[in-house]
Amino acid sequence: MIHSRPNTVQLLLAETLSRGILRLVMFFFCSCSVSMQMGFDLGTGDDVALMRDQITGQFGSCLPVLRLEPMAQLVNSLISSRTRDAVSSAAFERLICAYPQWPDLAAATVDDVQRTIADVTFPDVKARHLGETLRRIAVCHPDFDLSFLSSLSVTDALRWLEQLPGVGRKVSTSTLNFSTLCLPAFVIDTHILRVLRRFGFVSPNAETRIAYETMMTAMADWRATDLLELHVLLKRLGQTICRSNQAFCRRCPVSRNCKAAKSADNAAEIASVAAETGLGKTASADKRSAAAKALFPSSSNIARQSPRQSISFGNRTIFTRRLFQPGHERAGIAARHGNLIHRSSL
Ligand code: SF4
Repeated sequence: MIHSRPNTVQLLLAETLSRGILRLVMFFFCSCSVSMQMGFDLGTGDDVALMRDQITGQFGSCLPVLRLEPMAQLVNSLISSRTRDAVSSAAFERLICAYPQWPDLAAATVDDVQRTIADVTFPDVKARHLGETLRRIAVCHPDFDLSFLSSLSVTDALRWLEQLPGVGRKVSTSTLNFSTLCLPAFVIDTHILRVLRRFGFVSPNAETRIAYETMMTAMADWRATDLLELHVLLKRLGQTICRSNQAFCRRCPVSRNCKAAKSADNAAEIASVAAETGLGKTASADKRSAAAKALFPSSSNIARQSPRQSISFGNRTIFTRRLFQPGHERAGIAARHGNLIHRSSL
């Protein structure tokens, strides 16, 4: 077999390419190592206190002033899930105007209750749960007085509430913590769960109950009012800065210690190194393909890889979404943390 010798241009191209790939691969592994060394060692009340202080520094201290009696808080929480606060508060007001006594609400038809709370999400399901829950409580507590819950341990009180129709961990904890019972139970809604996952206090897929146990273990000696304040602060952070469809990390008071923010920084830096080394959209198809094969050696055919293909580095995942896609002069790297994806173009 005859091998032709590479000319000078080919040799230069090969050297440039190999240096670029080497730098990029080195960056991947160095950034993983640095990220692991700088990882915020989460899991204690001090960590949460630091998080609270950082958020308070931006939003100020905030505590709701009104506490409802436990039965009213239970009803309020039952209709408020997945609904904006202003909408659920107005629906609660209409409900207690229409049914001033709890036995009236217990005896109301599902259709009537549904009409009264029509603008909350799932009004039919919530109306059914309200009637069933009130009738079940009436059997053992006909005066609808739930103050006995304060004589139980928080765990037993949660268990008692959660055997009622439609009552999950968010409704049970808010009944104990937000109401005049003022018991130490941290309330985790969808905003707070998202922040805790992205921040790295719980794993990116942790469910509410796991997050609750983790937080309560870390904050075992926190007072009920402190837990309520943290709830308000984290919820505000989730509603305004760490939003479900976009995280504004540069404006976030906890970004220095947030794992998702570190992932995003790494992705941006990886992309900038890749672009600097000439592996971006201006590179030839051959060069991109060679680079991709060096970076992702397990992929037998980079050009046809699924847009969802990914490679993992420690607790981060770098998505090769549309990276080197044939027919497109677009390339990019995305870092995923939980349900948050940060994209960086090359
Ligand atoms: S730094 Fe970004 S991802 Fe982390 S909590 Fe703040 S907004 Fe959310």
